[in-house]
Amino acid sequence: MSRKKLATVWLGGCSGCHMSLLDIDERILEVAKLADIVKCPVVDGKELPEVDITLVEGAVTSDEHLEEILHIRKQSKILVALGDCAVMTNVTGMRNYFELDDCLNTAYKTAISNDGQGEMPASPFVMHLNQKVVPLQEVVHVDHVIPGCPPDANTIFYVLSELLNNRIPDLSDVKKLHYG
Ligand code: SF4
Repeated sequence: MSRKKLATVWLGGCSGCHMSLLDIDERILEVAKLADIVKCPVVDGKELPEVDITLVEGAVTSDEHLEEILHIRKQSKILVALGDCAVMTNVTGMRNYFELDDCLNTAYKTAISNDGQGEMPASPFVMHLNQKVVPLQEVVHVDHVIPGCPPDANTIFYVLSELLNNRIPDLSDVKKLHYG
């Protein structure tokens, strides 16, 4: 079986899904037998080449994210939404219940922790957020989902090993996955 190319990407999320990915612990060696990790937050790959599988953490919160997920879709044979933010916006989408300006004002200016001295950042490098956060499947086709906040490491490993062995993961019996 030929080696696969694997990427993991972090959009609008808290990194908890990637922490869970790291929780597969020594099983990463089994992944490494079958795949080269060509891009992920802990691999210094600047570009996303054509890959077999990409795991995407987080929701789409900005035009920058939108551009990135469209590119990821183009480059990936299989796109997996990793975690509830990617699947349904979850924590990242909680701001959808409020006006964006109110959220930004609260975060940067009026929060008690700003001691009355907060200012809106003026740097062009600060991401411009869209009015609403959307889940991945609203803008691209998603092949598989790994639910959870964060997703369980056993579930992540199961999905990865199935895909790396050219099988289709079946998450219908989650209890079995967790307790063997
Ligand atoms: Fe963080 Fe949970 Fe969202 Fe993953 S699903 S990015 S752990 S908030």
